[in-house]
Amino acid sequence: MIEFYDALKKSKAYRLLQNDIKNSMAHAYLLTATDEEIIFPLFRLVACRIFCETQSACLECRECHKILDGVNPDVIELNAEKQTIKVGAINELVDSVHYSPVSGVLKLYFINYADCMTGEAQNKLLKTLEEPPEGVILFLGTAKPAALLDTVKSRCRTVPVEAFDYQTVYDEIYALTSDEKTSSIAAACSEGKLYVAKKIASSPEYVETFTAVLDMLDTVKKSSDISEFIGSKKAEKNTPEFLDVLSVILRDVLASDINDRLVLTAHVKDKIERLKSEFSPMAAAQCIFVVNEAKAKLKLNVSVQVVLERMLFKMLEVKYRCR
Ligand SMILES: [Zn+2]
Repeated sequence: MIEFYDALKKSKAYRLLQNDIKNSMAHAYLLTATDEEIIFPLFRLVACRIFCETQSACLECRECHKILDGVNPDVIELNAEKQTIKVGAINELVDSVHYSPVSGVLKLYFINYADCMTGEAQNKLLKTLEEPPEGVILFLGTAKPAALLDTVKSRCRTVPVEAFDYQTVYDEIYALTSDEKTSSIAAACSEGKLYVAKKIASSPEYVETFTAVLDMLDTVKKSSDISEFIGSKKAEKNTPEFLDVLSVILRDVLASDINDRLVLTAHVKDKIERLKSEFSPMAAAQCIFVVNEAKAKLKLNVSVQVVLERMLFKMLEVKYRCR
């Protein structure tokens, strides 16, 4: 099985690679994504597409199974566990590329978390990246392309995995959880990252946090409500998540003013509609700014209580000023 198979198969990155498989492949690819865990399943999907008996990455045939079980000798996967990749490992790779593929056609190398290569290891790889033997294709995967030498990057064809749209994330999470509310929250709060969505969906606290944010918006209406809310400590357990959810909801208040279809948290549409009467579009926009400021302060280790208190005061102020 390949996780998020349907979404990956429809992704632009996969379609681009599939096109290359049909026409002509580069010597080396750099697969990038902000969601780093998505890169390994994408690579496996591509490997299946290359070796599949029906050329469809069917996941059913013998060749696809060999890849899924990690036993195709022509598909060599490095650094599945995200560790520093030292020059010794690259030396071995560089030596082994010269052996002909067992299948007689192609041999794929995949270096996951390629940013974990030391500078020395990256330098060692350069020549092979530039001119691998016939039939060898290298794939590097990373969420941090900036950590790679320019000379490494320039030798690869870069294929970015873009963020997935709301509906795709919703469908994939629904397939895992069969729960509309969880899928909706995960899709709304994951910025198109499937593995972030999966983590959100598997964390009961996130659903709790979501409810806490809506409660806060319902109950904190004037400055005297603020200390009571802070005292309840409802936002203290997962403050960064609390602020993320608050941003998403304010964003939806703003979006619903433009077009209802842009609202991500569709499962709480009524609440969003009610909040619209409290937050003018200008107020919602400025409050998002205020929440972002609070997020930045949290990272500077300012006390959680102080950050929340100031944020809530400012939000009330903005709401009042932008009525
Ligand atoms: Zn197959």
